[in-house]
Amino acid sequence: MDTKKNIIISVDGTAASGKGTLSQKIATTLGFAYMDTGALYRAVAYEILQSGNDPENEENALQGTKDLINKIASANSLSDILHNPALRKEEIGEAASKIASQNNVRKCLIDIQRNFAKNPGKAYSGAVLDGRDIGTIICPEASVKLFITAGSEIRAQRRTKELQSKGLDVTYDAVLKDMRARDTRDANRQLAPMKPAKDAIVLDTSNLGQDEMLKKALQIIEGKLSTL
Ligand code: C5P
Repeated sequence: MDTKKNIIISVDGTAASGKGTLSQKIATTLGFAYMDTGALYRAVAYEILQSGNDPENEENALQGTKDLINKIASANSLSDILHNPALRKEEIGEAASKIASQNNVRKCLIDIQRNFAKNPGKAYSGAVLDGRDIGTIICPEASVKLFITAGSEIRAQRRTKELQSKGLDVTYDAVLKDMRARDTRDANRQLAPMKPAKDAIVLDTSNLGQDEMLKKALQIIEGKLSTL
């Protein structure tokens, strides 16, 4: 393996499939930088809702995207913006999925993601990005592509537990309904729909705990990287 090469690992998948936690662990294990690209879409949605605007209105959505890009340009750390706990709320995820189907919004966010993938920083020998279109659109050149999914009931159970443990008053039925609506919107939009890249390896995590998920993913990654 050429150790000077910047390695990119794409981890796409359905909502609440565990791809975020998995990606973070992969990055930590390999000493790679990590970007949660869903947080970018969530941050745009947050800007729009904070301004009292409508995420389904294309002008409002584009303005929110530009506001976020300006904020990123003047911030010391992109990570602080993407780690805002308010981004994790269900209504922000829902609004993020609505703005994510708009072409202008997606186009404005491409460079931030590609620059991060290509220049993850001197301390890192590669980057892990998770999202919906990383392996297909953002980084089609990624060395390893994973697509993470699990049955919708299992994902809704996991998400309900997670939100309830944070003290949020949510029900399983409402979480399942919202998650299915979001997956349908993400998979059926015209631009960059959520789907595995042709060369992605699909990992169904329905029956896997977090440690098993990481073990499987690392086996796949090591197998792929050893052929480079
Ligand atoms: O991954 P997460 O659930 O936080 O993403 C929120 C929403 O952002 C998704 O439902 C999807 O509509 C959008 N998204 C996207 N492309 C990405 C990452 C997220 O369209 N690469």
